[in-house]
Amino acid sequence: MDITKLEAWYIRSHRKLIFRETKNPYHIWVSEVMLQQTQVETVLPYFESFIKLFPNPQCLAEAEDEKLMKAVEGLGYYRRFRLMKKAARYIVDHFNGEFPNTYEDVLSLPGVGLYTAGAIMSIAYHEPRSALDGNVIRVLSRYLGVDHNMREEKHKRKLDQINQTYIEKATPAIYTQAMMELGATICRPKNPQCGMCPLQEHCVAYAENRQHELPVLSKLKEPIHKNWITLIIQDEAYIYLRKREEELLKGMYEYPQFEEESVHSVINNLQQQGIILDLVNQEKTVKHVFSHQVWHMDVYVVRRISGMSPEWIRIEHQALKKIPMATAHRKIGPLNN
Ligand code: SF4
Repeated sequence: MDITKLEAWYIRSHRKLIFRETKNPYHIWVSEVMLQQTQVETVLPYFESFIKLFPNPQCLAEAEDEKLMKAVEGLGYYRRFRLMKKAARYIVDHFNGEFPNTYEDVLSLPGVGLYTAGAIMSIAYHEPRSALDGNVIRVLSRYLGVDHNMREEKHKRKLDQINQTYIEKATPAIYTQAMMELGATICRPKNPQCGMCPLQEHCVAYAENRQHELPVLSKLKEPIHKNWITLIIQDEAYIYLRKREEELLKGMYEYPQFEEESVHSVINNLQQQGIILDLVNQEKTVKHVFSHQVWHMDVYVVRRISGMSPEWIRIEHQALKKIPMATAHRKIGPLNN
């Protein structure tokens, strides 16, 4: 690989992103976790406010769960942030609050895998450690003309080893960031800008005009569709919510919702538990797509007349904005019935 050209291109052309201008391992870690499955443009404002709220591992370890979840509301995949807090606790307990500086210690942190450890070690500590994410898989698959299914671990491992041999000949911090940047801005999934690419000269996919066939990625499982009856239960003073305990969106608040045929059967079932609700109207139908699930929510406004589920909490209407709520329900929006 023409590493010199790649690095020169990065130094010349990279976007000036706040988390690419730092060598602080804690900041790099935060940015890498936020960037998982999430676009750079989305992450930028979150990153800045997160670092202000939780400027070091100690502050993150001591953060209230709700404050943490509110800080990342809208980014999705919330498990990563619960693991981050756990890792911050681990840093305080095992490394005296200092972000660890060896590959093995970084890898020992809860939620930190090979990619994140490789990114932190190469960018913050200039250690040659491969960081193979989706962008780098795409660049290398195309550059080398790899035909194997990149969803299979053994093929990913092979590519990781190749990436390791490259970074050992490179300037680690520049190489890692250059490959990420190339994948994000030039060797994009659709319409790669081969004419501007520093790797074009020896790129197999370019030579054979196979950019759109690579990387080979087998189809993901079809998502599960769930139909919910979602209730906005409110009275003059309060709105009724539930805090999720399920793994998906754990710790986020939601409107009570039920996988049932109709709103009438929901109201009847609740009545049998001593909860009397008065149906006002159907407000809207909202769809939300997660990576493995699609929610179809028929949203009804109801008024509570009496009774209360032990699962529910009630909050004042104006407090709704201050609590962490997943996008799926946040986008239902304020209702004024
Ligand atoms: S030449 Fe095109 S396909 Fe090859 S690495 Fe560059 S952008 Fe990707």
